[in-house]
Amino acid sequence: MGVGKTTVGRALAQREGVPFFDLDDVIERRAGRSVASLFAEEGEAAFRALEARVLLEVLETPSPSVVSVGGGALLDPASRRAALERAKVVTLTASPSTIEERTAGSARPLLASASDRPARVRELLAARAPAYAEAHAVLPTDGRTLDEVVTSVRRAWSELGLVLPLGLRSYPVRFTDAPGSVVADIVTALRASQLFVVTDDNVGPLWGASLDEALRSRGVSASSIVLPSGEQNKRLAAVESALSSMVAGGADRSSVVVALGGGVVSDVAGFAAATLFRGVRWVVVPTSLLAMVDAAIGGKTGVDLGAAKNAVGAFHQPSAVVVSLSHVRTESDRGFRSGLAEVVKSACVGDPALFELLERAPTAALSRDTGVLHEIVLRAAAVKVRVVSRDEAESGERAFLNFGHTLGHALEAHGGYQRRTHGEAVSLGMVAMAKVGLALGITSPETSARLTGLLEQLGLPVDLRGEPVTEALSLLSLDKKRRGSAIRIVLLRAIGEPLLHDLPLDELSRLLESAASSA
Ligand code: NAD
Repeated sequence: MGVGKTTVGRALAQREGVPFFDLDDVIERRAGRSVASLFAEEGEAAFRALEARVLLEVLETPSPSVVSVGGGALLDPASRRAALERAKVVTLTASPSTIEERTAGSARPLLASASDRPARVRELLAARAPAYAEAHAVLPTDGRTLDEVVTSVRRAWSELGLVLPLGLRSYPVRFTDAPGSVVADIVTALRASQLFVVTDDNVGPLWGASLDEALRSRGVSASSIVLPSGEQNKRLAAVESALSSMVAGGADRSSVVVALGGGVVSDVAGFAAATLFRGVRWVVVPTSLLAMVDAAIGGKTGVDLGAAKNAVGAFHQPSAVVVSLSHVRTESDRGFRSGLAEVVKSACVGDPALFELLERAPTAALSRDTGVLHEIVLRAAAVKVRVVSRDEAESGERAFLNFGHTLGHALEAHGGYQRRTHGEAVSLGMVAMAKVGLALGITSPETSARLTGLLEQLGLPVDLRGEPVTEALSLLSLDKKRRGSAIRIVLLRAIGEPLLHDLPLDELSRLLESAASSA
């Protein structure tokens, strides 16, 4: 309250030429009473229930509009999630003293009975901070003109972005053509004492200089740490080397790590950030398709240990993910196709419309057509954001994202991380799971055929016959999905309908061996 949401909302709607709704006005019209009397006569709970219903209706409005929503309406997690998925949410903030000043003398139900109004304002702000942080942008209004605030809101609106809502640890996934300036803005807002850009020896020479230049032009200097590329280097040795460079470069707890690269770089740099002084902040600039849609989002970091893939790691959410689609221009065809395997996986577990889009336009996807690429990356990243926001620690739904990864990881490790890329191994793993699902009567022949057909059209491997499935199976005992003598796998009931299934290890081995011996 008192942050100017109605004034800003109305001015924004006028500038955009779209309708404006004030949620309280809509509620008052619907109830035939003022919000204050609704509060007094029905109580806060009844008011909130009505508010949630009306908000959902307004969010269904098909044409663009601006809605000013009281902060209380977004305290309900379901309303907040609906708003984040269907709209761009901007939180306007102000300091407690500004709020007291602006609300003095006006009737505010939540402040009405407070004997100590300033204390009540601070208490409400503190209690609501985690919910208010879950927004596409958080904009301070103190000391700023109406015009300045409206301009900032318009910029946030026009940026095609996502937000991973995790309370005070929420962060944006921003899409931009100017990653350097966006990273400069972010690290400036983070008040970083030092910046370490971690990259690898492929990505560094291609994209390191332009990032460095953009940062420098904004007065931000960074030290570069270049690691050897490739999964075979996703090891503790790489983490130690990055950490040593940071400490030698004068890192402290306010340092910020920027990971510029594919999934290997973000896994290693993120793990280094998670462990340096028990955790410093980090920002990811994913450069491979796979990292854009998967590895960079969700805060899982770590390295391989022997043949055990991702066996050592930590959950450590970044402060932001900055996606620039231009980065994939220099990715190899093999690498790009590997990323498409994770896109197919996201479609299988959470977005049937994305699956259909790929089926309709496999050639456009493979040629990295900008329009198609934009939609693919946004949709696949949205699946990851949605799943992680509901299950950050992988106690349930997040495990769906492991579809194809159980055998995939085993094949990857068996080939010494050289023979098959991560995405190629996942492609084979998905085909195998479709066959297992088919044998168990869970997956329909049509679903299995559509999945195999799409992967094939995208140039991904689907033939299990030449694969060392039996040998790789011995590595399954190292898999984190193992539960005693059973293993938890992800199967598909249909495209977009995953389910978790526990199978005894020997039964899974038998089914996989039979899947691998048939075409
Ligand atoms: P990668 O980082 O090894 O990149 C593949 C190759 O492409 C590397 O040689 C890299 O140097 C190069 N490369 C990357 N971007 C490039 C660009 N723009 N131009 C030219 N070359 C470029 O691997 P990946 O495929 O990006 O990611 C796979 C890794 O991600 C695996 O280790 C996997 O376990 C991990 N992963 C992690 C998560 C997670 O949640 N943390 C999720 C999925 C995958």
